[in-house]
Amino acid sequence: MNVARLLVRAGGAAADRPALYEGAALRATYGALAERVATLAGHMRGRLGLDPGDRVALVMANCWQYVEVLFATWHAGLVAVPINAKLHPKELTFILDHTAARVAFASADLAPDLSAPALEAVIDVDSREYGALMADGAPAPIEPCRPDDTAWLFYTSGTTGRPKGAMLSHRNLLAMTLSYFADVDAITADDCIVHHAPMSHGSGMYILPHVAAAAAQVVPESRGFDPDEVFALLTCHRGVSFFAAPTMVRRLIDSPEAGRADTANLKTIVYGGGPMYVADCKRAMELLGPKLVQIYGQGESPMTITCLSRRHHTDRNHPRHEARLASVGVAHTVVEAMVADADDQPLSCGETGEVLVRGETVMTGYWRNPDATAEALHGGWLHTGDVGALDGDGFLTLKDRSKDVIISGGANIYPREVEEILLQHEGIAEASVIGQPDPEWGETVVAFIVTQPGATVTPDALERLCLDHLARFKKPKAYHFVAALPKNNTGKVLKTELRRLLSET
Ligand code: AMP
Repeated sequence: MNVARLLVRAGGAAADRPALYEGAALRATYGALAERVATLAGHMRGRLGLDPGDRVALVMANCWQYVEVLFATWHAGLVAVPINAKLHPKELTFILDHTAARVAFASADLAPDLSAPALEAVIDVDSREYGALMADGAPAPIEPCRPDDTAWLFYTSGTTGRPKGAMLSHRNLLAMTLSYFADVDAITADDCIVHHAPMSHGSGMYILPHVAAAAAQVVPESRGFDPDEVFALLTCHRGVSFFAAPTMVRRLIDSPEAGRADTANLKTIVYGGGPMYVADCKRAMELLGPKLVQIYGQGESPMTITCLSRRHHTDRNHPRHEARLASVGVAHTVVEAMVADADDQPLSCGETGEVLVRGETVMTGYWRNPDATAEALHGGWLHTGDVGALDGDGFLTLKDRSKDVIISGGANIYPREVEEILLQHEGIAEASVIGQPDPEWGETVVAFIVTQPGATVTPDALERLCLDHLARFKKPKAYHFVAALPKNNTGKVLKTELRRLLSET
């Protein structure tokens, strides 16, 4: 089934329901949205001359037009390539080249600079030209497609090496949508999702379950994440959910509004994409209520590997509650997850190995990259590159990306474990731990620390904290106090960049 069918369905059965808001302002009902999308799809095939399977790039900051272009692309049987608008121009060009996208829809500030050999047209979604496309022409019928046809080329964030395009099929996206309902949350037509996080990534994926439920999509006027705006939007929308990276949750609860704002209209924050520290998780629940759900996923199995439900967040009486909060939850309904050794053999409970996944949401492969596809999918399992352990109840605890594990004197040290301890110090805002090459030990542990404004934190105090909680060999040998940690566009700490900084000192 073509996933654009979800919108055709909502456009008929929920025609009068609000579909798109910009801030508090309604931009389209589901009836109007479905009609605009079918008309735009007609132009993609007619005026723009695109053929089924052609790639359409979306180079836009968050905007309500995102939903239109995404669905029109699918409606016309084309492949969407959502690209993070904050990428470096060289990274943008690489993706445009690699996908040979023939048409790009772009925000006004990005449109003039887009060029690539295969690119025939760039349409500024804030322009009259875009508006005019909707004003004339007839709605086109939806293009049929096979379940394995590619719908979304998801470029991995590329914290190492060149980004790779995970081919996500219509089947993958539909399975992700159904899994949201089964594992993450129920949605009604009175609810909405606010896109505070980039629509080119997780937040954009969650457009789908909300269209399926005919719930509204809200794009903040700032087009991004601003804690004050998060709270302000709660005064004009009800049943609000949003996706947030853990760093966003942290900024939200650190904001002065967090203790005072009325959060009755906040329904769910789905967080994921990076480690959430237990202390932050607890504080978020104290300040905002029982509104957290965690997901663990990656571009190759979008938003869908494991989920820590609202119930598991709040089940304080469970004897393993703390351990569960530090986990990423249990496998989503539509996938199997296992922890395996280097030969892909399953390990026993508690043993640490690579997380492998198979099931309905796992990509069909990497775009034009058979070697990387064979490596990632060999044996029928997706090799996530994440290291973790399962407990007897099926809860997965992630240790780290395999490349981030520090090996010191032959012992494996998981940076996350050290970071959790450092973050217990109230003067520390952020901590990131990496390995530094060392002739004697192989690697030694080094911590980068961002302190809370006005706080004084000494290496001695951190040393004592670590000695109180950690084996001696895991204790950082050096602390570097920095103003901020380098992060990529989706808020992930760039450990490669920290390693580079270290090699230069
Ligand atoms: P991306 O493909 O850019 O979404 O990055 C996916 C990677 O982010 C995963 O392979 C994990 O390393 C990390 N990640 C995603 N979700 C979580 C989570 N809930 N906790 C810890 N790390 C996560």
